[in-house]
Amino acid sequence: MHALFSLEKQRNAASQSRERLEREAQLDKMRQLEEEILSQRQYAHAHPPEPRQRGVPFEQVREMRAEHAAELARIKAEHAALLEAANQAKDEANEQILDLRARLMAAESARDSANDALEALRKQMSEIAEQQTSTEANEAALTHQVATLRAENSRLTEQVFAGEQLRRKLHNQVQELRGNVRVYVRVRPGHGALASLAYPDTLGHTALEVRSTSESATGNQVTKTYPFTFDHVFGPDASQDDVFTEVSQLVQSVLDGYNTTIFAYGQTGSGKTHTLEGPEVLSAAEQGLIPRAMEMLWDVAARMRSQGWEYSFDAQMVQIYLDNIYDLLGDDGQQKHEIRHEGDRTVVTNVVTVPVEGPAHVHKLLATAKKRRAVAATLMNQRSSRSHSVFMLRVRGRCVTGEACDATLNLVDLAGSERLNTSGSAADPTRLREAQSINRSLSSLADVIGALGGGKHVPYRNSTLTWLLRNSLGGNSKTLMLLALSPMADHLGETLWQ
Ligand code: ADP
Ligand code: MG
Repeated sequence: MHALFSLEKQRNAASQSRERLEREAQLDKMRQLEEEILSQRQYAHAHPPEPRQRGVPFEQVREMRAEHAAELARIKAEHAALLEAANQAKDEANEQILDLRARLMAAESARDSANDALEALRKQMSEIAEQQTSTEANEAALTHQVATLRAENSRLTEQVFAGEQLRRKLHNQVQELRGNVRVYVRVRPGHGALASLAYPDTLGHTALEVRSTSESATGNQVTKTYPFTFDHVFGPDASQDDVFTEVSQLVQSVLDGYNTTIFAYGQTGSGKTHTLEGPEVLSAAEQGLIPRAMEMLWDVAARMRSQGWEYSFDAQMVQIYLDNIYDLLGDDGQQKHEIRHEGDRTVVTNVVTVPVEGPAHVHKLLATAKKRRAVAATLMNQRSSRSHSVFMLRVRGRCVTGEACDATLNLVDLAGSERLNTSGSAADPTRLREAQSINRSLSSLADVIGALGGGKHVPYRNSTLTWLLRNSLGGNSKTLMLLALSPMADHLGETLWQ
């Protein structure tokens, strides 16, 4: 209790002293303030304030106002410019936005179509992949097919070669059956005074009748009919092409390797040269056997190329006059020409050989020959009909199979067969010699042809003509005697009976 009391006493005492202290501090502060106010009053007294200026001069005010107005105008203008720029920027921005939107749309559609294309490509790729798989399968099948076809092809090629060999054999058999020696007659257009001709075999064209009418002793008209048979009879209507069609089989035989000779026999003016060469002024329809044979040889050779054959053609052309040989393609001076037989081949010395470049080339050769014949002759017209002219074409073929052939086609325009040793010719020694020479050579030709196939001795040596053609007459050779007949001839019968 005591302790409590003392504590209370102490606490009271402490608060009393604290209050006293606070009062004293306040009193100090008041005293300080009073001193301060006093000092300020003193200072204020010592420094009285300067009299205040009242208002600003009017000029200055106006200037300031003007400045303010200008400033304001400037600010406004600046503001307007800024506003405009801001608007413009806004417009541009809007435009850009529009543009960007458009681009965005375009880009989107491009993206869409790219996606479509991509999709299509993917599809294609998968299709291609599928195709490739099937192509690979096909390829294997094709390779197999190719191999099969190759085998087939070489089998067929062999067949073709074998077929060509067979064709040759059969063609030759047919030719032999028809006769290795044939006689055709061709009657040129015109009317005879002494005899009339008839062609009774309209289908086979093998018959010719000569009808001659004469007066009997009793004064009656008597008609005699002389029938003849030939391998073929061409009437006056037969064209050059008709004649060639028959002859073309023999031309084929040349390509097959058989020597072949075609003689044109008959009186002067009966159509020998017309048949062999054609008329002086040529049209394609009128060209004769020689150019037609050339064209055929050329065509067949071209076709045979696919079967492995290569052909070459070499021409020679000579004239036999008074049993002497003259070169019609060379520059023939006084050259001597000899006939030599070397195995199966006949060679005439110093005779020019021209490699034929084509059918057109033959026309040139015939023209050259015609000119040379004219130059060599003193009496050209007569002489050309009194000499034999021989066109010789050597045809050589070589096949890839190793087969080869070598044959000559002779086309002979014989001297006129009219009788020259009658009356006038006997008086003229040259004509007599010509006549004797022609008669000898024609009759020895007849002897040779007559002896062929008869197993008899064949008298080739009896004339230059038969000696020249020795290798082309007889054996496997083909011979055609083409009798040219003019209905105007005085001795029609003679030609036929000779
Ligand atoms: P050869 O050579 O036999 O002497 P040619 O061939 O020169 O006779 O013929 C004598 C004439 O008769 C020539 O003018 C010829 O054009 C003509 N000639 C011959 N045969 C025929 C024919 N079949 N068609 C038309 N004219 C022909
Ligand atoms: Mg003639």
